[in-house]
Amino acid sequence: MAENEAIDVAIVGAGSAGITAALYAKRKALGVRIFDLKALGGQTAEAVWVENYPGIGRIRGMQLMQKMASHLKEFDVEVEEAAEVTGIEKKGEGFELDINKGEEKVGAKSVILATGSKYRMLNVPGEKELYGKGVSYCATCDGPGFKGKAVAVVGAGNSGANAALFFGEICKKVFLVEYAETPGFDAIYGKPLQEAGIEMLLNTQVTGIEGKESVQAVKVKNRESGEEKSLGVDGVFIYIGMLPRNALAKQLGLRLDEHGYVAVNEGNATSMPGVFAAGDITGELAQTVVAAGSGAIAATSAFEFVKGLKKG
Ligand SMILES: Cc1cc2nc3c(=O)[nH]c(=O)nc-3n(C[C@H](O)[C@H](O)[C@H](O)COP(=O)(O)OP(=O)(O)OC[C@H]3O[C@@H](n4cnc5c(N)ncnc54)[C@H](O)[C@@H]3O)c2cc1C
Repeated sequence: MAENEAIDVAIVGAGSAGITAALYAKRKALGVRIFDLKALGGQTAEAVWVENYPGIGRIRGMQLMQKMASHLKEFDVEVEEAAEVTGIEKKGEGFELDINKGEEKVGAKSVILATGSKYRMLNVPGEKELYGKGVSYCATCDGPGFKGKAVAVVGAGNSGANAALFFGEICKKVFLVEYAETPGFDAIYGKPLQEAGIEMLLNTQVTGIEGKESVQAVKVKNRESGEEKSLGVDGVFIYIGMLPRNALAKQLGLRLDEHGYVAVNEGNATSMPGVFAAGDITGELAQTVVAAGSGAIAATSAFEFVKGLKKG
């Protein structure tokens, strides 16, 4: 390909959706580049264990994503890491991607947005100040440093339950704090959490995180009785949901749904011809296998789009 010639498809995000899209696109002989602002793997790489990816069995999230990436490498596509797509503009028939604020400009005939979602914050005093000093949003990344210590996991959905179970294996005390009256995790987590001795506080709001150099306590308030207390912990791991990473979609002026997720049709096409979206950014069921599936669909649609351009 001549320098400056637009590639067929630029993929933004190397989680399950992006990697699968790259694999499908490359197998259709499209010219592909795939960028990730961090490292490959996306959120799945942060899952301690993944047990529901068909045909694989129980596997560490990071290992599953490394398997996907090596599969992609067999097709001569490598994820470009530390490459944030900081802007996308419509240019003529195609698009121009800005990498790392001007480091490189990449022309593309089509784009697949697979940017996933990011952590929702509690927005309580101490959260920002103690981030990286005991406050974290990723048990896999930061959890091992809490061996033998006490931690609070905030949010009793599946991700929170997953994290609490991980800490149950290595920590002396684990609290699982949930704002709602009932936990949101799947029934399958109930027994293991109980057996691991996790102390669950339901109907409980986190009102602050305390500590000087590092986290020393988390302040909670029972929403029914109004009783407030401080739980002595060394770490607070926050799992209260996700927000779509839709900055690029907004910049392109794509249609979003009422929660900010990118609206797509059954072919994962967005409201702008040539731009496709796949995975969590579309607001579909947030699961690795679903993201992989929609990545495959998006790449197939991108192929049809690029083929159409060539004919035209
Ligand atoms: C702790 C945890 C445990 C989970 N456990 C499971 C499980 O057991 N089973 C399961 O099926 N699912 C699980 N999930 C959900 C699953 O991980 C997600 O549904 C899946 O990762 C979605 O894939 P994705 O490719 O859409 O997005 P992501 O995996 O979020 O990947 C998006 C990627 O895009 C990159 N990116 C974003 N913006 C830019 C940009 N501007 N430029 C370049 N790169 C960018 C990000 O760095 C990221 O790597 C879990 C999630 C979490 C957080």
